[in-house]
Amino acid sequence: MATIFSKIIKGEIPCYKIAEDEMHFAFLDINPLAKGHTLVIPKKEVDYIFKLDDNELSRLVLFAKKVAEAMEKAIPCKRIGLSVIGLEVPHTHIHLVPINKESDIYFGKEKLSLTKEEFETIAEKIRDAF
Ligand code: 5GP
Repeated sequence: MATIFSKIIKGEIPCYKIAEDEMHFAFLDINPLAKGHTLVIPKKEVDYIFKLDDNELSRLVLFAKKVAEAMEKAIPCKRIGLSVIGLEVPHTHIHLVPINKESDIYFGKEKLSLTKEEFETIAEKIRDAF
């Protein structure tokens, strides 16, 4: 069965899209740790990031770098933190989170509740910087 992220790629489930190329897709996390929290995924359904082959893994990280550079321009923050957890959705994803301090990327903390308009504004800013 297709993962929820494959359905997002196909447009069957809506998302706040950031960027896409032939192998990758980036969109805002719906339960963000911070404004701009973005997920970067390969289009290929592979559950565990370290099961990607070397070429796939390298290209995924390079795509995430481009997204992070756009986020740095769009969102005021000290840097973009990167995390891989993957316990919830069995489709490889890199979390990119704008951070100012270590606790900003603590996944146990309460997530932000943003309006549709806030998500749209953030996504547009990052897209424009991409
Ligand atoms: P993980 O698998 O890394 O533990 O967490 C999965 C992440 O995917 C969570 O941060 C969660 O908020 C996000 N997520 C789960 N379902 C959806 C969805 O349908 N849309 C979006 N944009 N994010 C999702």
